[in-house]
Amino acid sequence: MASFKTLDDLGDIAGKVALVRVDLNMPMDGGAVTDTTRVEAAKPTIMELAKAGAKVLLLAHFGRPKGQRNSTMSVSMTLDAVEQVLGREVMFIPEVHGPVVEQSVGILRNGDIGLLENTRFWAGEEANDPQFAADIAANGDFYVNDAFSAAHRAHASTEGLARILPSFAGRAMEKELVALASALDNPQQPVAAVVGGAKVSSKLAVLENLVARVQHLIIGGGMANTFLAARGIDVGKSLCEHDLTGTANAIMDKADQAGCTLHLPYDVVVSKEFAANPASLRVCNVHEVAADEMILDVGPQAVEALGDVFKTCKTLVWNGPMGAFETEPFDEATVALAKTAAALSIGESLISVAGGGDTVAALNHAGVASDFTYISTAGGAFLEWMEGKDLPGVTALKAAN
Ligand code: ADP
Ligand code: MG
Repeated sequence: MASFKTLDDLGDIAGKVALVRVDLNMPMDGGAVTDTTRVEAAKPTIMELAKAGAKVLLLAHFGRPKGQRNSTMSVSMTLDAVEQVLGREVMFIPEVHGPVVEQSVGILRNGDIGLLENTRFWAGEEANDPQFAADIAANGDFYVNDAFSAAHRAHASTEGLARILPSFAGRAMEKELVALASALDNPQQPVAAVVGGAKVSSKLAVLENLVARVQHLIIGGGMANTFLAARGIDVGKSLCEHDLTGTANAIMDKADQAGCTLHLPYDVVVSKEFAANPASLRVCNVHEVAADEMILDVGPQAVEALGDVFKTCKTLVWNGPMGAFETEPFDEATVALAKTAAALSIGESLISVAGGGDTVAALNHAGVASDFTYISTAGGAFLEWMEGKDLPGVTALKAAN
């Protein structure tokens, strides 16, 4: 892995102005933040810089205001949550560049924290306009990027600033990059990848990248149905992208050539209706799905076999639930496999990295999220990483050295 600078590489920063890109795009209800996970993730970086005596200016986007001021998307709506999590007073500054920011920097004492307005109120942000980035940079001495979740976007505050100022990865960014590198870039082998979720079409690039890189590719969730159909199995009323069976076959061929074992369920949980604990629920072999049934989870025998695959592996990457886990009992395969992975991770025989919106929800539902080696809450950036893409925000940090 090409390297990037971290906060360890900062010299004396007392009195210097740090421009710190964080992710404050938190869910809101009635004007209040309902989940402070993201600001908590940025807290170590912010506090470390403040303790070292820097004047810390936080940069973030909030919603999609499309290059215009919009009071319903002001970052100031997160101010209370930010102050509460940091345990500090934070000065809201309703600009990102120009004299108001300059004056505010003059008012801030060493170790104080300022929160700049929504970067996306300016069209230059998403356009990655070099002049806009330079205008922001004019009020800072160095740049810290602690928002991995925004690193798949080449925007002024995620990429452009790293071209102008001395640039460093924040602690959360550093942790994420180290964890992801240990899972796919330079992993301990053998590696198992679990890919589940609803559709093949949303994860084609992920599957194509993984078959070339892992020893075991475990396919579950709705997308397994498309692979089963490609093998000539009748999946009844299951969610299935019949137009993608050719693609599924090509992925299976590619896996064969690469020496990657592709695992599909051989027993499944089916039902005639999609509801909690339906009367028509049964477990059957994949060859026995009736025309009016749908596959909603991986079956218990397959779960057992897949758990054994986990035990032979040193590294596990997981994206996508094994079944329709939001509805009981179709959470059983996901929960059981999550528990197996968690136990192996606690025992330190497995490095386990998982990500994806629904995946994180499923692992929380299983009660084991904190036992995984690393859980990425990055969403889109995590998926692009699983696709093997370079993330512009990360590339810029590495190039800044
Ligand atoms: P992530 O957000 O972690 O990337 P996805 O969005 O790709 O995951 O997929 C999650 C969704 O897939 C869940 O809503 C789940 O109910 C659905 N799903 C999983 N298995 C099935 C299935 N067999 N049939 C229908 N939907 C399924
Ligand atoms: Mg999802």
